[in-house]
Amino acid sequence: MVVEKRMSSVWVTSIALLLLCLTAQCGQGAGGAQLQEQEGTTSELEEETALKEKLILGNRILDLQELVTPYGHISARIPNSDRIFITTAKSPGLVTVEDILVVNLDGEVVEGEGITYSEIHMHTGIYKARDDVNAIAHTHSDYAVALTVADIPFQPAMNQAVQYLGPAKTWDRIGTIITSELGEQVAEFLGTDNALLLRMHGAVIVGPTVELTTIRAIFLERAAKLQLLATTVGKPVPFTAEESSRLQPANPSRPWQYYSSKVSQGLAQ
Ligand SMILES: [Zn+2]
Repeated sequence: MVVEKRMSSVWVTSIALLLLCLTAQCGQGAGGAQLQEQEGTTSELEEETALKEKLILGNRILDLQELVTPYGHISARIPNSDRIFITTAKSPGLVTVEDILVVNLDGEVVEGEGITYSEIHMHTGIYKARDDVNAIAHTHSDYAVALTVADIPFQPAMNQAVQYLGPAKTWDRIGTIITSELGEQVAEFLGTDNALLLRMHGAVIVGPTVELTTIRAIFLERAAKLQLLATTVGKPVPFTAEESSRLQPANPSRPWQYYSSKVSQGLAQ
């Protein structure tokens, strides 16, 4: 019985292969495989082009929201690789797709002309430590910095800050992140959080996509602003753990669409 079953299975397989040969390009063999490979490469290229455009849009949004001004940067991990896209060391409001470089996780430019930001190690350190992170923004946002100047711990004290962001600790060390050792320390301090504040300096925000990272950066700043305003008139009362747990994570597509539209309106003027 077992032999019979095996024989019938061989027949079924043979007939299936014959049908495939009649209906597809059976004779092309390696050529078909090559075609498939080329198609894969084309879709990868399209994916990378789309990611580059999204990265530039993220730069523009952060600039328009005044989170970066002349300084700050945002990067994206190239899918299925240990390389990232980040621009040359220009102001985020001025960069274009042509300014995008490919940088490896040692912080070396491996494709493109020019030098990137001196704080590249903040990006590479986090990408090395966090497989779930595919985009990183570094802002110099006023209200987040103001909290650190006043030595006030950040509280995600608004709905969107809980839904998109969560907690963010303050890294006490003053100065920029310009060595791989500092990059690793920042990554370790970040842990599994989505953001941290850099005392007297700015913030680092991470996420699985450019969209969510950008939106988190915006809501970090808005929450910091509200918290700071609240401290001027009273004692802020944060969400309880139970209240926070009732706020479900939200999809960033709506705020991304909203803030993207601000960029197109700004560019149209
Ligand atoms: Zn900085």
